[in-house]
Amino acid sequence: MDDRMFRTAMGKFATGVTVIASEANGDVHGMTANAFMSVSLDPKLILISVGKNAKMNQTIQEAQKFTVNILSDSQQEMSMIFAGQLKDREVAFDTFEGMPVIENSLVSLACNVYDSHEAGDHMLYIGEVINLSVQDGEPLTFFEGKYNNQVTS
Ligand code: FAD
Ligand code: NAD
Repeated sequence: MDDRMFRTAMGKFATGVTVIASEANGDVHGMTANAFMSVSLDPKLILISVGKNAKMNQTIQEAQKFTVNILSDSQQEMSMIFAGQLKDREVAFDTFEGMPVIENSLVSLACNVYDSHEAGDHMLYIGEVINLSVQDGEPLTFFEGKYNNQVTS
C-alpha cells in the first residue's frame, strides 16, 4: 500500500482541527494537528500525535507541558498559519495556566506531559489536563484534506 492510499483512507475520517502550543526558553511555538483524542476521565487524559520531524517535539520535550486549542469555524487562518500554509504572520497568544493559547478557540486545554511513546514516524504525547476553558461556537472541520467541506477544483 502506498502513502497516498493510506492518507486518502485516513482523510475519510472527519475531524476537528486543533493548534498545539507550547513555550520553551521564551519561544512560543504552535503546530496544527488533527491527531487528537480524549483518553481517560480519571485522570483526565488526552492524546496528540506529532511527526518526529516536527519542531514541536523539541518544544514539548523541553517544556513538559502544552496546550490543545480546538479551533472554531472562523479560525481556518490559524490552522493554515500553524501548518506552514500561510507564512510570516504575527499571532498574539493569550496565556492560560502560564501556557500559550490561541484566543477565541472553542476549547483550550492546559496539559502537563503525563507520558510519551514513539510510534513509527510520530511521537505520541499523553497530556494530563490541569485546566480548560470552553466557548460556544461551531467547529472548524477537516475531511478529505479540505476544511469545512470546501469544494476545490
Ligand atoms: P514549523 O513547520 O516550523 O511551524 C509551523 C508553522 O507555524 C510555521 O509556518 C511557523 O512559522 C508557524 N509558527 C509557529 N510558531 C509560531 C508563532 N509563535 N507565531 C507565528 N507563527 C508561528 N502534523 C502532525 O505531526 N500531527 C498532526 O496531527 C497533524 N495534523 C494536521 C492537520 C491539518 C488539518 C493540517 C493542515 C496539518 C497537520 N499536520 C499534522 C502537519 C503539521 O501542522 C505541519 O507539518 C507543521 O508545519 C509542523 O510544524 P513544526 O512543529 O515542524 O513547525
Ligand atoms: P492528507 O490527505 O495528507 O491527509 C489526510 C489524512 O491522512 C489526515 O487527516 C491524517 O489522518 C492522515 N495523514 C496525512 N499525513 C500523515 C502523516 N504524515 N502521518 C500520519 N497520518 C497522516 O491531507 P492534506 O491536506 O494534504 O494535509 C496537509 C499536510 O498536513 C500534509 O503534509 C500532511 O502530511 C500533513 N498532515 C499530517 C498529519 C499527521 O502527521 N498526523 C495529519 C494531517 C495532515
